Amino acid sequence: MGCMWLRRILLRPTSLPLQKPPMAALLTPATLQNPVSSPFLKPSTPSLTPLASSHRRLLSTAASCSPPRSLVSVDETSFDSGGERSGITNRSSKVLLKGMRYDELEKWVQSHGYRPGQALMLWKRIYGNGIWAHHSDQLEGLNKDFKKMLSESAEFKALALKQVITAADGTRKILFTLEDGLVIETVVIPSVASDSRSRNTVCVSSQVGCAMNCQFCYTGRMGLRRNLTAAEIVEQAVFARSLFTSEVGDITNVVFMGMGEPLQNIDNVLKAADIMLHDQGLYFSPRKVTVSTSGLVPQMRRFLKESNCALAVSLNATTDEVRNWIMPINRKYKLDLLLQTLREELRFKSNYKVLFEYVMLAGINDSIEDAKRLADLVQGIPCKINLLSFNPHSGSQFRPTSEEKMVEFRNLLAELGCRVFLRSSRGDDQMAACGQLGNPDVVQAPLLRVPEQFKMAVEVSA
Ligand code: SF4
Repeated sequence: MGCMWLRRILLRPTSLPLQKPPMAALLTPATLQNPVSSPFLKPSTPSLTPLASSHRRLLSTAASCSPPRSLVSVDETSFDSGGERSGITNRSSKVLLKGMRYDELEKWVQSHGYRPGQALMLWKRIYGNGIWAHHSDQLEGLNKDFKKMLSESAEFKALALKQVITAADGTRKILFTLEDGLVIETVVIPSVASDSRSRNTVCVSSQVGCAMNCQFCYTGRMGLRRNLTAAEIVEQAVFARSLFTSEVGDITNVVFMGMGEPLQNIDNVLKAADIMLHDQGLYFSPRKVTVSTSGLVPQMRRFLKESNCALAVSLNATTDEVRNWIMPINRKYKLDLLLQTLREELRFKSNYKVLFEYVMLAGINDSIEDAKRLADLVQGIPCKINLLSFNPHSGSQFRPTSEEKMVEFRNLLAELGCRVFLRSSRGDDQMAACGQLGNPDVVQAPLLRVPEQFKMAVEVSA
């Protein structure tokens, strides 16, 4: 779910910055405001990508067309698919340490003739103690033979750091190259509060691209290339801590809202979340790890049964007609089914609230009637609602709702008894904000036919 790591804001009467500053021109090393001096970042970082040019590739608007052949199909029949990888070993058949839960690591260590205590020492050095070991040489205090076995049989890294880009508000976008050469993006959003409410968030990707084809999302233009392995997901959080803890403080929150629909890759996402929660490792609190979904109902049911982590549902519409268009997953799992499933499943969870994300699109989903319908739809579901400003990107056919209208919408929801917040964008000047991740390239997923009654609103924004 590419999206929603947005801070709570107090809207001023006139100036929510809904208009985006111009996109960055060519990035040079000098523009990296906080160059990273980490052992992970090789001095020979590939030449920096001219984001502006790639993001400005033109899309035809409002045209139906066939899905490009090189992408996993993005029509509604493909929502349950995804390229699978085992994720336990890499191409040279070495075991990926970050692809194992603690009990799996312990068994693997024992199978090589070593004690469980050595597994724990290894785990602590990979995931904490300020070490975040990415090589057997960094395993101080471990038995020499054990280190030799690890250097021969295990791989510490699943990602190669490619580039770090810092936005004007301090948000960092990190680009990683995967073993097969594909690139993913991770975002670190430093807290704006300096007191005890301070929370630094890492937004991790769960797939390369996304099959869901939400019409307001830049990542959706990519189509789905493949699922990420658990190791590739976990390592994004490890990198965030190792690179930025000294600059911004502890990374306290994880949101699965980067590239991809996390619940389409549910096995690896559940595993990655388990690894992130382990109390001898990264030790995130379950309620500070949020997994987002566009509405894959069966997987959402499974997630709520199997995980204590928080759930965010990207809603974005109050009628099936609009949601079928802007979030085609709705053609398979309608609003009623989605919300009824939440009503049922949340009865079995105590002290648990789902977070509804609602990206406001001018003239599409921001009317007074929408606000009233939204309040009705969430009746009986313990929840909070985040209203998000739309972040434009190249080829997008929508406009953000005005600040005044967002306030009006928020106030009406609050009057109707909803717990509702306005969120501002972070990192949008570097395409690091909600719905702006990825690089769709020249081959892109199709834009869907615009329903007749919204053609005017879309034409205004074109
Ligand atoms: S296309 Fe939809 S589900 Fe996929 S990343 Fe974008 S908003 Fe999330």
